[in-house]
Amino acid sequence: MWYESLAFENPKTVQEALECLATDGAEVIAGGTDKLVQLREKKKSIKKIVNIGDIKSLKKIKKNGNTLTIGACITYSEFLELASENLPLLTDAVKQIASPSIRNIATFGGNIVNASPAGDTLPVLYAFDAEQLLESLHGKRVVKINDFITGPGETILNNGELLTEIRINIPSFTYYYRKFGPRKALALSKVSFCGVHLTDSDEIRLAYGAVGPAVIRAYEAEELYKKGQKDKIPDLIEKLVQPINDQRSTAEYRRYLCVEMTREFLKKIQ
Ligand SMILES: Cc1cc2nc3c(=O)[nH]c(=O)nc-3n(C[C@H](O)[C@H](O)[C@H](O)COP(=O)(O)OP(=O)(O)OC[C@H]3O[C@@H](n4cnc5c(N)ncnc54)[C@H](O)[C@@H]3O)c2cc1C
Repeated sequence: MWYESLAFENPKTVQEALECLATDGAEVIAGGTDKLVQLREKKKSIKKIVNIGDIKSLKKIKKNGNTLTIGACITYSEFLELASENLPLLTDAVKQIASPSIRNIATFGGNIVNASPAGDTLPVLYAFDAEQLLESLHGKRVVKINDFITGPGETILNNGELLTEIRINIPSFTYYYRKFGPRKALALSKVSFCGVHLTDSDEIRLAYGAVGPAVIRAYEAEELYKKGQKDKIPDLIEKLVQPINDQRSTAEYRRYLCVEMTREFLKKIQ
């Protein structure tokens, strides 16, 4: 079996985890809800699993002024219990992820590093330009979500590097969030959308999940809004999204949903 010769480390601090990760063939696991499936399906040969799910410093949520900081190993259930009132848009997205049993173990960090175009926290993180704190034995760096994810399942994370914190600056805003899946629960998105209206500056943010190699932030459409040309936005969205046909939906239906959700959001903020 693929796991028979696998070593398992259970570090208690970030420093210990980084030392464990410095050896060849060591890979991180947090909740394991993506990783274990991938290991089994790909029968990938790895030498060591480093479980970061027990590191207390990665399980903190802080609110400082307008900045919400979420530890990478905060599970969705912990977020709903500890911080749901801080960012109702993220709460709406998290409540629609998987099922209570998965939400009890699956983490924010795992959703981000897994970098699926259908990752349900991601449109919200893109809409707020969330920052990721990355740590390695060589130091720390902070990277915006849009620069962190480079394609489906691809990020700029180096070997031996950990995502430790997600920082979200929360302005005054109203929002619209929808997720369409094949079922109401335990279903990955066929499309998800989050539209944010920044009330102080009268700007909008538009982020679309599962309709491209990564989440699409529609910067050009946001510019049209600034220029007072919001009637042109739905047509532009139709061209900007890059959906595919797969087992969850057709490209045509996904494109239709993106346009209609955008229209609904624009109507809501009139
Ligand atoms: C039945 C089921 C239903 C699901 N439904 C949904 C859904 O509705 N919406 C959705 O978005 N997802 C869904 N998922 C996918 C999954 O639950 C989420 O992506 C989850 O957030 C992954 O978190 P995790 O802690 O389990 O990650 P893991 O599986 O532990 O890790 C995922 C990847 O990230 C890496 N990693 C994890 N944490 C870190 C870190 N801090 N630093 C560096 N690397 C790290 C791992 O090495 C691995 O490559 C579902 C999964 C299952 C099994």
